[in-house]
Amino acid sequence: MMTIDPRITAFADDLTAWRRDIHAHPELGFEEERTSRIVAEKLRQFGCEVTTGIGRTGVVGTIRVGNNPRAVGLRADMDALPMDEANTFAHRSQHAGRMHACGHDGHTTMLLGAARYLAATRNFDGTVHFIFQPAEEGRGGAEAMVKDGLFDKFPCEAVFGLHNRPKLEVGKFQIRSGPMMAGGGLFDIHIKGKGAHGARPESGVDPVVIGGHIITALQTVISRTIAPIDSGVISITQMHAGDAYNVIPETAVLRGTVRAFRKEVMATIKQKIERIAGGIAASLGGEARTEVRVAFPPLVNDPTEAQWIGDVAASIVGEDNVNRNGNYVMASEDFSYMLEKVPGAFILIGNGGDEGGCEVHNPGYDFNDAALPLGATLWARVVEARLARRD
Ligand SMILES: [Zn+2]
Ligand SMILES: [Zn+2]
Repeated sequence: MMTIDPRITAFADDLTAWRRDIHAHPELGFEEERTSRIVAEKLRQFGCEVTTGIGRTGVVGTIRVGNNPRAVGLRADMDALPMDEANTFAHRSQHAGRMHACGHDGHTTMLLGAARYLAATRNFDGTVHFIFQPAEEGRGGAEAMVKDGLFDKFPCEAVFGLHNRPKLEVGKFQIRSGPMMAGGGLFDIHIKGKGAHGARPESGVDPVVIGGHIITALQTVISRTIAPIDSGVISITQMHAGDAYNVIPETAVLRGTVRAFRKEVMATIKQKIERIAGGIAASLGGEARTEVRVAFPPLVNDPTEAQWIGDVAASIVGEDNVNRNGNYVMASEDFSYMLEKVPGAFILIGNGGDEGGCEVHNPGYDFNDAALPLGATLWARVVEARLARRD
């Protein structure tokens, strides 16, 4: 039995219309001009204070009730992906090469729904900040908002985020305490040897052979230097060298990606890649320069806050429909930057198995409108429970 707020159900058709309009007009990270304008307009209509231009196209809406100094932050993402949509329904993307294939149209709409409800009912005591973030898909939107002083201008005792989960039924939630989604990084290994005739290797230093040894040796990083109870991935996804059959090239480049669930593991992986690449290249008479860039820190839920928002979700859908021991997710999510600054939690909401059931980032994906009133109700209850009136 779901207990969706009837005052939210009453405007469910509006939520669907907003979501489909945003879906039809997808914008890439930091280009969310139309989306953030619509978000800001709606927040103002509801009666929120509105701040624009935080993290370039980011928007924050605020409602203050009473004089309780406590404040909570709720975050949604607004950006789309650079891909073509395969769907043929009326609200499909109107722009080639851009698609809301991760459901951020739904996340934005659910948070707008909560703002509309909370601005009208004001049944809490304290401050709520609705954080609409740009550029989640690898372009650093959360980091940009944090660097723009998000939590200095809008201090929050806790911050919560949400993502839809295809294949999980509508009406179910999933979360886990502690690390939940992997941190990710990218690396480049530039190998310098000495070019030579392919028939006269003794006069050169072969960067291709150095690269081969580095690839093999990097297989020991996870297996031999990371504790078996931790996990991590190193994948070498590119190797580039040479142009001719009979020329030993001067240089070679290896590139790839790393993932891990703990910051310390990420740091170890980074250090071992640098050491192995440099050491092997030197031992074979060449040089290797390694750059490892951390793209996202791991997403780590505060155990107390994960428990707490799990309880709020259970109060709406029942304990049986909240999986508090959900799987680790190897994908990354840049809400992790916000969770590094302020304790909080990230929860997954079912997007259903049929309509919208295909995976995110798939050209046939669509957010499931049936989940909109539930997501908006979750946010409403989070605020009303966290900032409960004391009178
Ligand atoms: Zn995505
Ligand atoms: Zn996403």
